[in-house]
Amino acid sequence: MAVDSSLEEMHWKHDLLGSIEVGIVVLDKNYNVQVWNQFMENHSSIVPGMIQDKNLFEFFPEIDQHWFTSKAAPAFSLKSPVFIIWEQRPYLFHFDCNRPITSQANFMYQNITIFPLASLTGKVEQVCLVIYDVTDEAVTRLDMQSLNSQLEELGRVDGLTGLYNRRFWEEQFVMEYKRSIRSDNPSTLIMLDIDHFKKVNDTYGHPAGDEVIKALSNIITKAIRETDIAGRYGGEEFAILLPDTPVANVEFVSERIRRLVEKCTVKYDEIDITFTISIGIAAFTKTYNNSTQWLDSADKALYQAKESGRNRVVLAV
Ligand code: GH3
Ligand code: MG
Ligand code: MG
Repeated sequence: MAVDSSLEEMHWKHDLLGSIEVGIVVLDKNYNVQVWNQFMENHSSIVPGMIQDKNLFEFFPEIDQHWFTSKAAPAFSLKSPVFIIWEQRPYLFHFDCNRPITSQANFMYQNITIFPLASLTGKVEQVCLVIYDVTDEAVTRLDMQSLNSQLEELGRVDGLTGLYNRRFWEEQFVMEYKRSIRSDNPSTLIMLDIDHFKKVNDTYGHPAGDEVIKALSNIITKAIRETDIAGRYGGEEFAILLPDTPVANVEFVSERIRRLVEKCTVKYDEIDITFTISIGIAAFTKTYNNSTQWLDSADKALYQAKESGRNRVVLAV
């Protein structure tokens, strides 16, 4: 009777291990394989007879042995389960994805649980790995993340120029204003505007005007540092924030942008278009009560640049 019932139990266990849609692997203390279920066989093409009593790492060189043994250690020593989620490591076993056509994943994303298996004496001589296929969940999450970052990017970038849009630039500007109040490092603001741009539109047409705006954006992007914050403030008006930059350096950069623009020729429909810009500069000072006063100061300098003949740089007093 005892033999019969244990045989029955064997069958029962065998069927159970074979039919469930998770991987089951039992490892001993030396990481030799004791149990290898149907799921593992299906995905690895390794039958239990091939891997039984063999070392796991010999069959799966993709598993970082040092990392995995230190991860599994608490299951042996503390008798507590260990969880490895796909966000930490996308997979333990490099298996193909089940649905290579419908899914964008190149491999099966896996969550892993490592359970201690205590013997009758209470010692943990073996651990059981449960491997869950979480590819669908992972792909959905990754798609959402990439969509979110695209949407976020769209929300802060101006479509024509690729520079920050006004809303996002202003947010950065207000933060920089607040930071400047507490900082000893000077930050400086540039406002610039294309000269007689209405004439460009009237003479060559609005699409040609757009090309001029794009050319100017390219010049600005190349002239400034990565840490500078350039935005399209209005139609043909731009604002650049230069954190931690003394005004003398900003005058130098501004003068360079002005000269590059003066020398630039925009080709549109076989026509060569040249243009100029006027620039106003305002360094942060602690006399400003709010960020708008700082902006007004740069705007006034820009107005003076226009009034005094255009195609020039004026520093706010
Ligand atoms: P000023 O030298 O005093 O700046 O003269 P201006 O002609 O440039 O005057 P203003 O700055 O007021 O003109 C802005 C013009 O820019 C008016 C508007 O038609 C044009 N504009 C605004 N946004 C766009 C745009 O996205 N594309 C094009 N092509 N033109 C634009
Ligand atoms: Mg203008
Ligand atoms: Mg303007």
